[in-house]
Amino acid sequence: MNEIMEQPVTTVKGIGEETAKQLKSLRIETVQDLLEYFPFRYEDYQIKDLHQVKHEERVTVVGTIQTEASIRYFGKKKNRLTFRLLVDNVLVTVTFFNRAFLQKQIAVGAEVTITGKWDQHRLTITGNEFKQGREEREQTFAPVYSVTGTLTTRSLRKYIYQALKDFGSYLPEILPQKYIIDYKLPSKKEAVSQLHFPTNKELVKHARRRMVYEEFLVFQLKMQSFRKANREHSHGRAVAIDKGSLSSFIDDLPFPLTNAQRRVIDEITTDLQSATQMNRLLQGDVGSGKTVVAAICMYAIIQAGFQAALMVPTEILAEQHVQSLQALFQPYGVEVELLSGSVKGKKRKEKLELLANGHLKIIVGTHALIQDDVHFNNLGLVITDEQHRFGVEQRRVLRDKGEHPDVLFMTATPIPRTLAISVFGDMDVSIIDELPAGRKTIETYWAKPDMFERVLDFTEKELMAGRQCYVICPLIEESDKIDVQNAIDVHLLLTQHFQGKWKVGLMHGRLHSSEKDVVMEEFSQNQTQILVSTTVVEVGVNVPNATVMIIYDAERFGLAQLHQLRGRVGRGQAQSYCILLADPKSEVGKERMRIMTETNDGFVLSERDLELRGPGDFFGAKQSGLPDFKIADVVHDYRALEVARNDAATLIQSESFWIHDEFKMLRELLKKEGAMNKQKID
Ligand code: ADP
Ligand code: MG
Repeated sequence: MNEIMEQPVTTVKGIGEETAKQLKSLRIETVQDLLEYFPFRYEDYQIKDLHQVKHEERVTVVGTIQTEASIRYFGKKKNRLTFRLLVDNVLVTVTFFNRAFLQKQIAVGAEVTITGKWDQHRLTITGNEFKQGREEREQTFAPVYSVTGTLTTRSLRKYIYQALKDFGSYLPEILPQKYIIDYKLPSKKEAVSQLHFPTNKELVKHARRRMVYEEFLVFQLKMQSFRKANREHSHGRAVAIDKGSLSSFIDDLPFPLTNAQRRVIDEITTDLQSATQMNRLLQGDVGSGKTVVAAICMYAIIQAGFQAALMVPTEILAEQHVQSLQALFQPYGVEVELLSGSVKGKKRKEKLELLANGHLKIIVGTHALIQDDVHFNNLGLVITDEQHRFGVEQRRVLRDKGEHPDVLFMTATPIPRTLAISVFGDMDVSIIDELPAGRKTIETYWAKPDMFERVLDFTEKELMAGRQCYVICPLIEESDKIDVQNAIDVHLLLTQHFQGKWKVGLMHGRLHSSEKDVVMEEFSQNQTQILVSTTVVEVGVNVPNATVMIIYDAERFGLAQLHQLRGRVGRGQAQSYCILLADPKSEVGKERMRIMTETNDGFVLSERDLELRGPGDFFGAKQSGLPDFKIADVVHDYRALEVARNDAATLIQSESFWIHDEFKMLRELLKKEGAMNKQKID
């Protein structure tokens, strides 16, 4: 759209081939990419009163050291150093990861300046910088970029400085004047320079506001024009559904469907029958019975002569789905096969052949499904489970393996309706808002960690009654390795505690998939009664005999994730329990635990959390179910998202948007991204 901006980064003075290669690994290839590679945060060196700092804010404080440093090692390379610090009359814990060398500098009674991130729930600062004495800086507000290899924040700033100098005046102003004026936004050039070379916090905020709005507006325009194009020019095919055989399939199920299941099946089969390509999101709380809905839709499509594919994020889940689908389809003589990383060689080749020649109608798999050599004969329906675990690109690749197949995304993350409309505006949304009859609500308790013995006594009663139990391990940081170490420790502890009585299994992400299979199989066969695990069990695992879910460090998890974990129990007839081991320090943290104990309804949970403190914490970063943006954050900036959604709707409906020069750049941007190309709808 703007040739100068599209030039390779090597046109910037000082950037050679070698640097360009490094930049490429950050996905910076053009001048524009470089200018729009924004800092992921700013370090704030302004010394603050701790009482004025909000949860998760970056902060610099001065305090007096109260204890010597203690260090815990995890393997050879990882370690955690902790000490206590008195700051503004609050006793806090300071943690540094992998900086054991600081130990010598931690002297009781010394005054130090710490820069890091504040966790109000745990009264902890996770440190980035440590200075002896009280250190005041001149430049108190500095950008920090996410970098790799030999690139540093400093070198990156140098390149960006040069790029701004040479090309800044070519930065295209794509926002319509009206909005710039109405919302008092800085120009694109001002905003970009301010984000990289900040004057102060206020101006950065202002600049960010502009870029967020721009990103949302473009996103909304894209989604809404896809939808418009999809409505006006259909590419789907009208599938002829055999109503009679579908009802007898439903009648033969071991249980009657819930009303909500019936409703969403109606919605989906209506889509299948219409000539428009389906693009539908199916939301339903954990245990609401999405799998059987998927099965029914697959049955409908294969009866009409097409193939169906179900893609799931983990191997464990894929295998479980294969098993439950096989049980459902076997009486009808329909084969269900698995395609995953562990299916190799001759076996894999055979399956690929059966898919390509159309003899195999139903395939369930992981990412293995989207490899180049996987071809379908006649793919009519694509379903992805736990859709947020897949990127847009992966979903597109699977979809492109068929000729405009209908697409269904399933998710158990209850996204409040208001947010869902803004974020998934290009999809239709179906909701299963009812659990199968007779399901007991899971009793949830919040216990302090020092009550662990009592929790184990309680667990033992359940075990004596023939039930099983999950124990989810403490989450220390976003490091798989440390989480695994924790799981190993807890496993050892419980094995000793229950020695001679109960068997304890261990599951974590570092196991080979064949090892995971064995662990899972043993648990589902009740050969092990307790399963200690990291959060890998979270998605979709189904062992109805498990009635107790114990979650360590519960305050560390997002409410959505806690709710997902809790959903691993309560899958059978017996009463189930979830015990949150947590010691949150703040009122908000305590309130979150209370909310968990008070409701089992994921939608209520997400709405309450939204009320409590903005949509912030409900969605843990990793599995938000929400799309990724360069600078905007759907959750924190959701008001801007709403505004952009309305503006996009107004623009798209107006005649002038499609002809007026002022909107030319926006139109070209949409065209470039394929949003207006009617052949491509994603
Ligand atoms: P999720 O929505 O979490 O994927 P599942 O599809 O795994 O839920 O269903 C959870 C359990 O409930 C499964 O054992 C399934 O067989 C059972 N189930 C599904 N629908 C019904 C229903 N209408 N009545 C009774 N049990 C059902
Ligand atoms: Mg499921």
